[in-house]
Amino acid sequence: MNLTNEWQALKKHGARIIGCFPLYPPLELIHSLGLTPVVLWDFPGPAKVLEKADRHLQRFACSVGRQLTEFILSRESEILDGLFMYNACDTLRNLPEIVASGLAEQKRSLPLVRTHIPMAPPEQTAWEDYFRKKIWALIRNLEETFGVTYSLERFQRSVELYQQMRSLATTLMTRTAGGIISYRLFSRTLQEANFRTVEEQITLLEKILRENPTGRAQLNEPDLPIVLSGILPPSPAVIRVMENVGLRVVGNDIASQERAYGYTPAQKISDPCEYYLDFYQNHVPCPTLLYLADQRLERIKNLVQKTEAAGVVFLGEKFCEYEYFEIPFLEKILKKKGVAVTSLEISAEDGDQAAIVTRIEPFADMLREKAQKRGKQN
Ligand code: SF4
Repeated sequence: MNLTNEWQALKKHGARIIGCFPLYPPLELIHSLGLTPVVLWDFPGPAKVLEKADRHLQRFACSVGRQLTEFILSRESEILDGLFMYNACDTLRNLPEIVASGLAEQKRSLPLVRTHIPMAPPEQTAWEDYFRKKIWALIRNLEETFGVTYSLERFQRSVELYQQMRSLATTLMTRTAGGIISYRLFSRTLQEANFRTVEEQITLLEKILRENPTGRAQLNEPDLPIVLSGILPPSPAVIRVMENVGLRVVGNDIASQERAYGYTPAQKISDPCEYYLDFYQNHVPCPTLLYLADQRLERIKNLVQKTEAAGVVFLGEKFCEYEYFEIPFLEKILKKKGVAVTSLEISAEDGDQAAIVTRIEPFADMLREKAQKRGKQN
């Protein structure tokens, strides 16, 4: 997938592209204003040389932040009409100022709209009123910055489109868990969809589902069902190895995948504030949404139980302290419960991620042995 070509085609049809970060921006709202939001995460293609990012960010920042910075400071981002950002981790906290100064050096600038999502657990601090004000302020800011007008009817229509897209992505994952679609295809499809309009995402997901109807499971032997967790999905090379050794992803806890599409408010929409209160307060737990931290263990345990996974693979994003606050704890609790766990680490410099590959094989061997022992006992 060539991003520039994709986006140039969109621009020919008059699209105004807004690059958003981090992972869970109010896409429906931005879309309803006649803009095209794309989440700047999980960029396609091989990892880039991070020359520009490294002049502005420390090398021990996560690869997600560095790739994002590199993209915004590169010529590729000239196609964007603006940026949207909400608060997340320390790496991203000062990124607007960092990229603004990097762009200024190149005599460039991009309009940036920001909002703030309260990170205290709602049961400890009532943040609803504050958040409602932030949403209305965001709408006004978007209107003024991009010369557009908010309408409830258009917002409702955009919500319907995103509900449809998230439902299709859920169905795609169900077929992946059932062995009908490979995780490689699932992951590639979601990555491609991410950089398209929501209308195109729906078309793409429907196409893949049509081409892969239910009832034709292609399970490899041996079949070792796992839950996969992490900020970014594994590279195609790592996925190939996982599938070759028989690991089948039955539970998805990847931030750019199921954590992103896994929850959408079902309520009848009469107010964008109520919609986004529901959206953020009931979001799939993610370490980047600090107020959901207490729900994360339950979510992983339920995922393992519901999918009958034989093990969990944590893909830690190197230097992401948010993931690393939780992974050791999750690992300990799951192991106590008899769930096999392995933790792997990925980063921008890993190339073909050979070190990861050599750890996947023994993990698969261990799962296979466990499965054989269970088989003999039954
Ligand atoms: S991977 Fe972690 S440190 Fe990096 S941007 Fe995401 S939450 Fe922040």
